Amino acid sequence: MRKESGSFVRWARVWTRGITPRVALGLAGITLCGMVVWGRSEGWGSAAAALPGPDARRSVAWVGRTMGTYARVTLVTADSAAAAPQALLAHAALHRVDSLMTNWTTTSEVARLNREAAKSPTTVDPEVARVLEASLRIWRESGGAFDITVEPLVRAWGFLGGPRRVPSQAVVDSAMRHVGGQRIHYDAASRRLRYDDDGVRIDLGGIAKGYAVDVAADSLVAHGVADALVDLSGNMMALGHPPGADHWRIGIRDPRDRIPFLGRVRLSGQAISTSGQYEQFVAADGKTYGHIMDPRTGRPADGLLSVTVVAPTAMEADGWDTPLFVLGPSQGRRAAHRLGHVAAILVQPGRGDVDTVWVEESLRDRFTLEPTARLRFRVRYF
Ligand code: ADP
Ligand code: MG
Repeated sequence: MRKESGSFVRWARVWTRGITPRVALGLAGITLCGMVVWGRSEGWGSAAAALPGPDARRSVAWVGRTMGTYARVTLVTADSAAAAPQALLAHAALHRVDSLMTNWTTTSEVARLNREAAKSPTTVDPEVARVLEASLRIWRESGGAFDITVEPLVRAWGFLGGPRRVPSQAVVDSAMRHVGGQRIHYDAASRRLRYDDDGVRIDLGGIAKGYAVDVAADSLVAHGVADALVDLSGNMMALGHPPGADHWRIGIRDPRDRIPFLGRVRLSGQAISTSGQYEQFVAADGKTYGHIMDPRTGRPADGLLSVTVVAPTAMEADGWDTPLFVLGPSQGRRAAHRLGHVAAILVQPGRGDVDTVWVEESLRDRFTLEPTARLRFRVRYF
């Protein structure tokens, strides 16, 4: 992914030679979507319908790909050409975080740590250190439900490098011998990291997207952007508001995919993130196994259909959606209540056709069930 930052420099050069922003964005693989029309494809990354404000500003989205998924930067602007460089910089920030934290290349900082930290203590890049520190805090606060040492398990189930499969109990047991946050030792003062043995690996896939969204949003703010929505595969930061409304309205996807959204949350100045087993899973014996691992059992967690978290930062929202999913309906609700800065919506499968949407009290005024969802979901507050 270093390749990508190199190509960014190239786009920047092309830019200074006077090629229009639209062409430069094309070179970057980023598409200017123009006036955003909210339809099904906008999915859970949607915002409110863009009404022209008195200043004629519109919501305009630039869509690209990073971290193996889509990324969408929506800016509220009266001049999409002038706004393009800001969107491009936000996309570049997402790419940069990916190149540091991905488990899909051998050149990332995380890959280097996974090669070296069992041999001797190794100094961690400052940004990766921030995510590592947050991960270890969430590991402690979630009683081990969030655990970045799940990598050997994620690999055993084929979610890293594939093919996806249901591993034998022996394979699960041997992966589990290297799983557990207590097997990594990190000293924040010196930023040194050491692993217990050379089977230990970390995987920041449960939190890095959130961090990337924060960095992209910070880049927008640093360039004077007040109203924007950054969306990296359902990990979002909502800055300000869209034209003609005082909040962004974020759709929460139906985890069974029968309707586009089950409901919406109004959001301004906050982040939101959704985790579910519907995106990446392996189907076998009439069951589906998702990519969120229960580090206590070595098997995919299966008590919930999805978890949505609202938090002050996207890293916090992404970091918490995974462990609440692992903890399941009862413990997950208790943990969400305990956490003052995090509010959650948990979707629990029902026995019949009707699933339960558990909405935390603090979100009561901001959550609305879609009319089309009324037959399929019942809402309960906690
Ligand atoms: P998404 O990647 O769909 O946004 P998540 O935020 O839930 O969803 O992250 C899922 C990823 O987190 C998995 O693909 C894996 O890399 C990692 N992961 C799986 N189980 C755990 C866990 N218990 N704790 C920490 N990370 C996990
Ligand atoms: Mg997560």
